[in-house]
Amino acid sequence: MSARYTGGCACGAIRYEIAAEPMKAGHCQCRDCQRATGAGHGSFMAFPDATLKLTGTPKYHEVKADSGNTVRRGFCPNCGSFLLGRNSGMTGMVAICAASLDDPTVFKPQMLLYASSGQAWDHVDPALPRFPKMPPMAR
Ligand SMILES: [Zn+2]
Ligand SMILES: [Zn+2]
Repeated sequence: MSARYTGGCACGAIRYEIAAEPMKAGHCQCRDCQRATGAGHGSFMAFPDATLKLTGTPKYHEVKADSGNTVRRGFCPNCGSFLLGRNSGMTGMVAICAASLDDPTVFKPQMLLYASSGQAWDHVDPALPRFPKMPPMAR
């Protein structure tokens, strides 16, 4: 099976390939994503974790989500690029930061999460379905 999606960090120390289509894609305006990205929201594509092939070793930062789940954010220890996230409540799934893709134009957001902590200056497509926190099906 050949990879359909490729990407990596800013310095090139970490590269990834994914041989699957995304299960979900969306933006997240939670405060953790704002801190991790330094921007108004994170933009992610979720894939089956088993299809992710990493070259290089990310460093992981753990945060407790308001759901009680543990979120592990992987970033490059050299350049600091935020690359991927895993949620203990969604095992088998990995969220890839859309901007880390070699071709970010393939990102097609379907929803906005944690709109309740969105910043007034962070405008996101008003046509997208928005959830104040996580959508019920992801709990
Ligand atoms: Zn790097
Ligand atoms: Zn978030």
